[in-house]
Amino acid sequence: MTKVAALLEGRGLRPSHQRVRIYEVLAATKAHPSAEDLWQALQPELPTLSRTTVYNTLASFLGLGLAKPIYIQGEELRYDADMESHGHFRCRSCGRVYDFPFGEAEYRPRLDPGFVPELVQLACVGLCSGCAKPREG
Ligand SMILES: [Zn+2]
Ligand SMILES: [Zn+2]
Repeated sequence: MTKVAALLEGRGLRPSHQRVRIYEVLAATKAHPSAEDLWQALQPELPTLSRTTVYNTLASFLGLGLAKPIYIQGEELRYDADMESHGHFRCRSCGRVYDFPFGEAEYRPRLDPGFVPELVQLACVGLCSGCAKPREG
């Protein structure tokens, strides 16, 4: 059994070949793909993989703590298999999403008593260093 198969099985998810490949592709990228991106990336290799399977598998990953959702207003949900605490910077010009370090201790939501936070995300929007460069000429 591969490491990824063992990881999925350890969380109670049957490690089918499709699920293992979805996790491996997600874990190997820093691009924070959407379900559609992942489905397209896996098409050449798994032509029988359906979009529904990708969506359902990603929903399982979120529920089991194997991936984190990234909410960007007006965009399809993106996914990240990096479970370490970090923030996301989205470039409004090229659309890329970059990671940046941020410790949970640095950002604590001030909630009224009784609220139970389950997900705290730090998101920045702006221009990445490549896009912020002044144009030549
Ligand atoms: Zn950019
Ligand atoms: Zn990330």
